[in-house]
Order: sequence, then C-alpha cells, then structure tokens
Amino acid sequence: MSGSLDPLDSAFGSPSAETDESSYPTSGSVDLARIEKAVREILLAVGENPDREGLSETPARVARMYAELFRGLHEDPRRHLKKFFAEKYDEVVLVRDISFNSMCEHHMMPFMGKAHIGYLPDGRVVGLSKLARVVEVVARRPQVQERMTETIADLLVDELRAKGVAVVVEAVHTCMTVRGVRKPGSVCVTSAMKGIFRSSPSSRAEIMTLIYGDRR
Ligand SMILES: [Zn+2]
Repeated sequence: MSGSLDPLDSAFGSPSAETDESSYPTSGSVDLARIEKAVREILLAVGENPDREGLSETPARVARMYAELFRGLHEDPRRHLKKFFAEKYDEVVLVRDISFNSMCEHHMMPFMGKAHIGYLPDGRVVGLSKLARVVEVVARRPQVQERMTETIADLLVDELRAKGVAVVVEAVHTCMTVRGVRKPGSVCVTSAMKGIFRSSPSSRAEIMTLIYGDRR
C-alpha cells in the first residue's frame, strides 16, 4: 500500500501509547552567536570583508539557517513512533517519495532526495505522516546517507517491532555535483533491509518492486 501522507494519518483504529527509553538527545539548543562569529571568521579567512554592506547580515542569517538545518540534533525521532495503532493489518505498508534535505557531515554541504519506507507490521501500525516526520528529524543533522538510512530502519524495528523493514534512500550530494569530481545528476542509492526483507530474497524482491514499481 502506498499513499499520500496526512489524510491517512488516522486511518488505522485508535491509538495506543507506550513509554520507552530514548538514546537520542532531546534538549539543548543551537548557539547562534557562536555560529555568527565562526561565519565571520570564514569570510575573513577566504579574503572577504565581512563588514561590507552585502555581507553585514550574512553571519546572523547563516546562524539562523544552521539552527533550522540542524534542529534534528535536539529532537527525538522516536516520539513520532510512540503513538501506534494496534491493528490486524498484516500486509506491507509503504510510503514512497518522502522528500528530505540533509547536510553531508564531511563537507557541510547539502544532500537532498527521497526516502522510501516499507514495513510489514506485526500488530503495530503508525500514521503514514509519522514516517515522514521521522525522516525529517533524522535528516536535520550532520549526516552521511548510509547512516541516515540505517538509523531510520533501526527506529522502525525498535519501536514498531515490525516483521520486516525496508528503507531505500536516493539522494544527490552537492559535495559531488558542485566541487571535487563534479558529477551533476549522479544519484546515490542506499538501502537498509531488516527482518523478513533481509532474510527472505522473495520478500525483498517484492518490496523493491513495490518501491520502484513502474518507474524502471
Ligand atoms: Zn560530502
């Protein structure tokens, strides 16, 4: 099953809550003044004059932007998976084309693309928009695509105890397209397969067909 996000959010029965531990930081905030100082230093270091008119607001602007791009560091993605529905539904749930923006931690350059998340429930189903929220929190951190993919899959395994989880992420890395090897248009694809999607080649083939469908 695949579908749009919000309208289906509450399509499955009544919510049941659960308390759990969290291994993610949930407090703290971004130090805007410190980023401002650092950006000013970078401008000086590259030979610019940070006091000229066009640049005078730039450090503050970049600081606010970083606060937005890294806000996932101060959020726990698990909280979006705590409200699940006890449901007998035992077919694959799939949300394709969840778009995201993230930041490559090696170059501090954006990478952006789409995540596809499928799982085979074992009595726990979450609202479809929650999957997009998990992607959003995990993406808003200094990241590498491989770890981001794995993290999303592990969160679903832990919180939903699904029989299988499949996460495929496709992204364009600006650190590859605007500098270095400069390969515009190249897309990196990573996947994380858990449970039945790892152990059973036919289940894996089925979920990959659902993810890519008629697009290949
Ligand atoms: Zn990079």
